[in-house]
Amino acid sequence: MIQYNEALHLLEEIGSLRRLRSERIPVLDSVGRILASPIFSKEEIPSFTNSAMDGFAIFSSDTSNASSSNPVRIRVQGLVAAGDLQAYEAACANKSGVAVEIMTGAPLPTGSYDAVVKVEDVVVVKTPSGEIQAIEVSRPSRAGENVRLQGTDFAEGQLVIEDGVRIAPEHVLACASLGINQLNVKTLPKISLVSTGSELVPPDEPYLAQGMIRNSTGHFLLTALSQFGIKSDYLGIVRDDPTRYRKVLERALADGAEIFISTGAVSLGKFDFVSEVLKDMGATTYFHKAAIRPGKPILFAEFGSGKNKALFFGIPGNPVSTAVGLRFFVEPFIRSLLGLARENSLKASLIHDCPKPEGLRCFFKGKARVGSSGLEVEALKGQASYIVSALLDANCWVILPEEGTLCSAKMGVEIVPLHNAFEKGVLS
Ligand code: AMP
Ligand code: MG
Repeated sequence: MIQYNEALHLLEEIGSLRRLRSERIPVLDSVGRILASPIFSKEEIPSFTNSAMDGFAIFSSDTSNASSSNPVRIRVQGLVAAGDLQAYEAACANKSGVAVEIMTGAPLPTGSYDAVVKVEDVVVVKTPSGEIQAIEVSRPSRAGENVRLQGTDFAEGQLVIEDGVRIAPEHVLACASLGINQLNVKTLPKISLVSTGSELVPPDEPYLAQGMIRNSTGHFLLTALSQFGIKSDYLGIVRDDPTRYRKVLERALADGAEIFISTGAVSLGKFDFVSEVLKDMGATTYFHKAAIRPGKPILFAEFGSGKNKALFFGIPGNPVSTAVGLRFFVEPFIRSLLGLARENSLKASLIHDCPKPEGLRCFFKGKARVGSSGLEVEALKGQASYIVSALLDANCWVILPEEGTLCSAKMGVEIVPLHNAFEKGVLS
């Protein structure tokens, strides 16, 4: 039986040795993907110096003697709106002593216009017919005031996004500003899912015959993986028949499966044939059984060599064991495949005493909240591996260390979100 930390190391080592290819995709499809090569700016943004406010462009030197007791009156000539090139060009000919009305985002006329005074900071003097004639300014303006200088957001040649970053909508925002429409991202692994169990019927089966259950974890795995952008190939339910199971695996291997996630039939029951089939197929088993709860019989193996090399996760069939196998074995493996660092956990204080089996690291359904003394967590009732309902109440996993048979109230324990696999954010 392998210790969890040892298993994690092994998964990370094998994952990081396998280099994923990269592919070019539209930025619009890139959220959640991992950038494979860095993005540099080819332009300066803003590409022209412009006004940060609605107001009046001025020569700051015209206002050096302005005060509330001695306001400076400046004649106003013209109006530059955002995108109005004609008015901009006309205003470029203005000389000191003349202001021009300007709107937010409009180009600041070149020459000596070097500041913008906000409309609410001036007294506007109008003709009897309502046209703006002049402004009165009652304090000196600083050069650069309310002006967005060219290149102050992105400089030409600047690193915009480092490789290895998980693309978020904010990166899409930057790319769109810079006119970058395609990104080079890491290709996601091809995952094949298979559910074993002669008792399983599809989840859309309205009537359960005696002794049958709905296959809940097939849909769970499909949707959990799709949250990370991975579209897996679902091989379906396979009855507890080693010959049929082997055929399904062989066909998927020939079709280029890179990772298998198989549920059920890895314990010690009479119909737990997975490890035997793997042996017969010549796979290398790295571990079978980890010192964890739930999900102890978990199995990790590798098929073949060369073109048909594929990794295999055999996860026990109870729904919570499957969730733990995905969260604490498959997800760290995929992180390392994608070149991401190990996910961080948070520390929280246990609200109640929590009994646990000696020698096993426990991944329990938890509910965390911010209490008076910081982050607190409750290990929920219903920790048995078939209890799905408690998972609906949970907002995190509580991780209890191997040692001891009791984690007492107030003890600091690790917690991680229910799903955070490839996030590069507050937690990792
Ligand atoms: P096994 O790991 O095959 O020994 O199954 C352990 C328990 O999980 C049994 O009670 C199974 O009926 C149940 N189980 C196995 N596969 C699934 C599945 N796909 N969905 C829901 N429950 C399952
Ligand atoms: Mg079974």
